[in-house]
Amino acid sequence: MKSGAVQGELQYPQGIKWTKQRKCVYAILWQATEPLSAVQIYNRVDKDETEGMYAVSTIYRILAAFEEKGLVNKTTWMGDGTVVYELNRGEHTHYAVCLACHKRIALQNCPFAHVHLEQETTDFTVTAHKLELYGYCKDCKKSQEE
Ligand SMILES: [Zn+2]
Ligand SMILES: [Zn+2]
Repeated sequence: MKSGAVQGELQYPQGIKWTKQRKCVYAILWQATEPLSAVQIYNRVDKDETEGMYAVSTIYRILAAFEEKGLVNKTTWMGDGTVVYELNRGEHTHYAVCLACHKRIALQNCPFAHVHLEQETTDFTVTAHKLELYGYCKDCKKSQEE
């Protein structure tokens, strides 16, 4: 399997029944360095190791189970409407999306990091947030200027 910049060792959380297929999907999400769609996950599945995983719909069912247990975060890219999933690692990443080539660039910091604390004193308790930035990546900006 391809390995990204992942630290630590893969562990399967308690509280869910771990079938071979679920373990496989979880491992793919765990190795991923960016959110993946069900189709992208399906394409990364080692078909030899998971007999019975024949359809993308299987992946959707597994992802729905993961989502219910809070193991994954589901996001819809506003650019093209793709639904993608990311392992809930306790931290989160925001992305800047290039409108020309659809490349996604992870932001180094969360612009809302301080907002959660500030809002605690108001009538609303913030527990989560979403943010996507849109624009043009370096390469696309360059080709537009040429
Ligand atoms: Zn671009
Ligand atoms: Zn954030």
